[in-house]
Amino acid sequence: MTLTPSSPTTAIDVRIAGRRTGGRSKGPPASDVLRESLGIDTVGALLHHYPRTYIDRSQVGSIRDCTEGERATVIARVKNVRARKLDRRRTMVTVTLGDGSGSLDVSFFNQPWVAKRYPVGTEVAAWGTVARFGRTLQLQNHEIEVLRGSDDTVHTGRITPLHPATDGISPRTIRELVFRALEQLPELDDPIPSDIVEAESLSSYDRAIRDIHFPGSQEELARAQARLKFDELFVLELGVAFRKHRVETETAGVEHETGGPLASAMLGVLPYTLTGSQAAAIDDVTRAMARPRPMNLLLQGDVGSGKTVVALAAALIAIDAGHQAAVMAPTEVLAGQHLRSMGALLEALGAVAFLDAPVPRGDAAQASLLEDDHPPQPGLTYASLTGSVTGGQRTQVLEGIADGSIDLVIGTHALVQEGVAFKDLSLAVVDEQHRFGVHQRIALKGKGGDPDVLIMTATPIPRTLALTYYGDLDVVTLDELPEGRRAIETRIVRSASQRRGAERVIREEVTAGRQAFVVCAAIDEGNRTQVKAAEAEADRLATTVFPDLRVELLHGRMRPADKDRRMEAFRSGEADVLISTTVIEVGVDVPNATVMLVENAERFGLAQLHQLRGRIGRGTHRSTCFLVDDSDAANLDARARLEAMAATQDGFVLADEDLRLRGEGTLFDVRQSGMPDLKLARLAEDLDLVRRARGRAFDLIASDPELSGRPELLAELQRRFVASIDWLFHS
Ligand code: ADP
Ligand code: MG
Repeated sequence: MTLTPSSPTTAIDVRIAGRRTGGRSKGPPASDVLRESLGIDTVGALLHHYPRTYIDRSQVGSIRDCTEGERATVIARVKNVRARKLDRRRTMVTVTLGDGSGSLDVSFFNQPWVAKRYPVGTEVAAWGTVARFGRTLQLQNHEIEVLRGSDDTVHTGRITPLHPATDGISPRTIRELVFRALEQLPELDDPIPSDIVEAESLSSYDRAIRDIHFPGSQEELARAQARLKFDELFVLELGVAFRKHRVETETAGVEHETGGPLASAMLGVLPYTLTGSQAAAIDDVTRAMARPRPMNLLLQGDVGSGKTVVALAAALIAIDAGHQAAVMAPTEVLAGQHLRSMGALLEALGAVAFLDAPVPRGDAAQASLLEDDHPPQPGLTYASLTGSVTGGQRTQVLEGIADGSIDLVIGTHALVQEGVAFKDLSLAVVDEQHRFGVHQRIALKGKGGDPDVLIMTATPIPRTLALTYYGDLDVVTLDELPEGRRAIETRIVRSASQRRGAERVIREEVTAGRQAFVVCAAIDEGNRTQVKAAEAEADRLATTVFPDLRVELLHGRMRPADKDRRMEAFRSGEADVLISTTVIEVGVDVPNATVMLVENAERFGLAQLHQLRGRIGRGTHRSTCFLVDDSDAANLDARARLEAMAATQDGFVLADEDLRLRGEGTLFDVRQSGMPDLKLARLAEDLDLVRRARGRAFDLIASDPELSGRPELLAELQRRFVASIDWLFHS
């Protein structure tokens, strides 16, 4: 096999003497397989095809010394191969290895072809976790590789890399290619400025690339990985810094004149004093809106930290300055909640609801505003726009938005639909943004010149994400709860007696004048049977468990007016227990509710559980949350989630834990963002590295915003951000 690269950009052209890859008589040349199946077409790409794991032969031991439960590497010969059918669909091949000191089995499920791969007598290196079944030792989660002659320096290095391979090309062939390439390439240029490499005490790029493929020791491997992770994160952050700088200097935003009458009056009508972090957040928002550059601010605050009033303050700044503001919530329930809580403050400020035409039935907020005999004041007019505003009313609202007679509109994604055109939108508030994709966030922005954008999230974004994929936003955090809040006690319910205990607490709280939520399993509201099940459960609770309590049911399939009516009954204290699906997850604010019981809590994600729990502990009374765990003991992930919930109430800790448990592959938004994939860095684990890379990247952009002195870095940015090049270069 020959590979003669002169530089990392050389196209791969591999000729294999004698036979084709994979030992097949007919098959495409290795370079074709690399290109087509693995996307590797240059030597540089090959060098970035990092090993997925390593067989650590520095740990080679004899089979006799293998300890159950521990990892071991053995070098042994195949003594026996058995293939059998377990049933019609499943097969198992067991390969028995022996090294003179003992023997152990390696099993393969549903890979009948391996029987041929390891003929008796073959020498292999095998690595895995040792288990014992009766008198037989087994290697589990194993890696196994055929050895060919002990003088082969490529494959018998002390720590042998296993590269991701595919049909038609084996890890062994890839390893050999990488080895030949590294052997022939001159020292690789370092893409990272040398002052940064030195200041961060990183290994050189050349050293790191060589070591990640063929490390001499675990320490060398760790250093190589740290260096290359830094590279990935540095380029990512460089892109973020590059874009942020560009947006800030090239887009003309609205320069709000602050200190207007409404914003000042708001402080006077609040029924409470702001927390320190609310006041600081309002200051930050005020300053950002006063700047001529568009604001892109992420306001994160745990559930109940009081984000709404910060959003309202921002809206009033926009309106004071003569523009319009919009608040977009992810659900009707939440939009209604905003309408109600903002409406109460707006009313105190003398605002009027736009529609004094007949109010839709069940829309309590608007009704209560209209009951008051406020003479219409020209001060401020607000309206709601959701899917249930239809017909003539919708037309009226759209006109009011277009001609500017509506100053503030509170709604759902109905706000970003076609036909909605603002006269002069200068502030867009997007609440609970994790529920909207990046696309909707952009859509609302597109509804008027370059409005300032305030994104609110109650699911704290894991710190590393805030610094990377959301890294172009300024982040303001409410890290303080309003005074008088009591900690929520969280208990996991597994036994029948624990469940009776939970029901007893619910009854006691209700007797003491408090209220309770019961949340049914994460039901699919589109699934009739599941909705029926929730209804049946509500029935059961109402008739057999709490026949003496007033129980309401709420689910997503109800008509909006019906939902409003039931929600209102609970809010006003006419119902003691609200049985509900996750429609209550966001925003619902009933400070008198002090108990929550979550059925089938094992089916919920951490973020969702945290949101749900945030519905209680909002008043001054002690609150308790019961998480009913119906999982079996083997469901370790579910157990870990529930234990985490019981251990902390800190949304930031939970967000980090969630990322750790789920892995970043599940971060849908991130995938969609088109931002560069990270091969080595793990956002859940590398917070410190993220911070360091970010600091260096932002410093570099501050001193050379166009990277004109670093053309090679600019080229690297273009290469890495290829899927989001618009994001990078445009605003
Ligand atoms: P979230 O951040 O979850 O959206 P909200 O804005 O809904 O929180 O506020 C939660 C509750 O706390 C509301 O009832 C609100 O009126 C109340 N609240 C907000 N700020 C304060 C404060 N500084 N002091 C007391 N109560 C507050
Ligand atoms: Mg909120």
